[in-house]
Amino acid sequence: MNIENHHVVRLHYSVSEAGGEAIESSHGREPLAVLIGHRAIIPGLEEALLGRAAGDRFAVTVAPDKAYGERRPGLTQRLPRKHFKDQKLAVGMQIVVPTQMGPRPVTVEKLGLSVVDVDLNHPMAGKTLHFDVEVLEVRAATAEEKAHGHVHGEGGVQH
Ligand code: ZN
Repeated sequence: MNIENHHVVRLHYSVSEAGGEAIESSHGREPLAVLIGHRAIIPGLEEALLGRAAGDRFAVTVAPDKAYGERRPGLTQRLPRKHFKDQKLAVGMQIVVPTQMGPRPVTVEKLGLSVVDVDLNHPMAGKTLHFDVEVLEVRAATAEEKAHGHVHGEGGVQH
C-alpha cells in the first residue's frame, strides 16, 4: 500500500539542522502516527512520504518554506516572570507558553528581574531540516479518523 492522502502512517524519524546534530528523534519512543493530507506535519515531510510504503527508509532535506517558515524579526513578547515561578530559566532555553493559538514553543531571549522576553518564532523557523525516516506501517484511515482529522488508537488520540 503506497502512501496517499487519508492514509495513516506510523513512522520513526530523526531530524537535524542540515549538517548538524540531531535535534529530535522518535527512536526509543513511540513511533509518530500521522494522518496524511490533514496538515499534521510540515508540508515538506508530508510530500516526501507520498508514494512510499511500509519498510521504506529515506532521507529528505526540507527548506524553511516547506518546514517552519522563515524567522520573523521582532517577534518578541515580554511576559511576567512570575508565570515561570517553578521553572529555572536560561537564555536560549526552549519553553512552552500558552498563547491565543494554543501552547507554543518559544525561546528565552532575555531575563529580567520581573520579566522574561521570549522569541515567538518557532525554534526551527528559518532552518533547513534534514529528516531520516523509516516507514513502519501504512493503512487507510477510518471514516471517523477522516472526520476528526487525526489518528485514533496507537500513537494517536485515545477517545
Ligand atoms: Zn478523534
